[in-house]
Amino acid sequence: MKKVQDPLLETIVCCLGQPVAGNPTQFMMERAFEEAALDWRYLTLEVCPKDLSAAIKGLRALGFKGGNLTIPHKVAAIEHLDELSEAAALMGAVNCINRDGGQLIGENTDGKGFIQSLRKVIDPQEKQVVLFGAGGAARAIAVELGLAKVAKITIVNRGQERGQKLVDLLNERVQVNADLVVLEGDHVLEGGTEIVINATSIGLGDETAHVPLDMASLTSEMVVADVIFNPPNTQLIRGARELGCTTLDGLGMLVNQGVIAFKIWTGIEPNAQVMREALEEYLEL
Ligand code: NDP
Repeated sequence: MKKVQDPLLETIVCCLGQPVAGNPTQFMMERAFEEAALDWRYLTLEVCPKDLSAAIKGLRALGFKGGNLTIPHKVAAIEHLDELSEAAALMGAVNCINRDGGQLIGENTDGKGFIQSLRKVIDPQEKQVVLFGAGGAARAIAVELGLAKVAKITIVNRGQERGQKLVDLLNERVQVNADLVVLEGDHVLEGGTEIVINATSIGLGDETAHVPLDMASLTSEMVVADVIFNPPNTQLIRGARELGCTTLDGLGMLVNQGVIAFKIWTGIEPNAQVMREALEEYLEL
């Protein structure tokens, strides 16, 4: 006899965001539910900014178990939630909602997903980090690096104002030593740099795009990571690999933020390998 779940809607999570042609996260999550023998669904729902409040009320009323938030809702969603995790509060951005009883709790799994990938190749504690970018992804990563007790973070950003805002947050609220370099030509890494991360959108959809880094200042002991997952084999990752650096592509971060969200919603550890394979299949890699 078929097992009927009750109430059915508790087994639905969703992604609220801008119009998308397709959603790799949906494909990855549905595959993970299937692998874990969970009769759950992950829906991609197009929500424009003026309807965000109503959409979150709807999620509450319908008893969805949770959801992801994507561009442009990661900051605006906060005022509609009941509680925030420590990291989400520091970042001022939420990419994951968990319904716990009647409460909607905002989490941020982007930075945690990145750190989980990073830990597979290096322990970030006491390391010197150079981070390109100061947008949402960079903020999430920088806060988690601070919470993981890195020695220093140098933010390299094109815009001074956004870069300084992130540096102030890191120094004042996360209490990690941080400074800012405003981009002028290719950035030359200082000796002692151990981890280099591209958290800008440079490389998205363009495998020839150049991150403004002087590649000659990379050395083979460094770990080089890129948040870009489509395509994952960015010019930065290819160049760093040729120089003998340890590299991390953006697929690892995408898989791990999904692994963390899956566990938050279901309480079950998903199969990360199956999730990565699903993404590779979806992205036709
Ligand atoms: P934002 O728009 O918030 O920030 C973009 C950042 O890139 C800013 O710091 C911006 O600098 C910088 N930038 C963009 N173009 C250039 C350029 N031509 N030269 C120099 N700097 C540039 O985007 P997000 O932070 O939300 O996302 C960044 C990337 O991260 C996206 O491509 C996204 O797909 C990816 N991402 C990957 C995830 C994963 O799981 N792998 C998860 C989340 C995001 P400025 O401040 O000067 O404008």
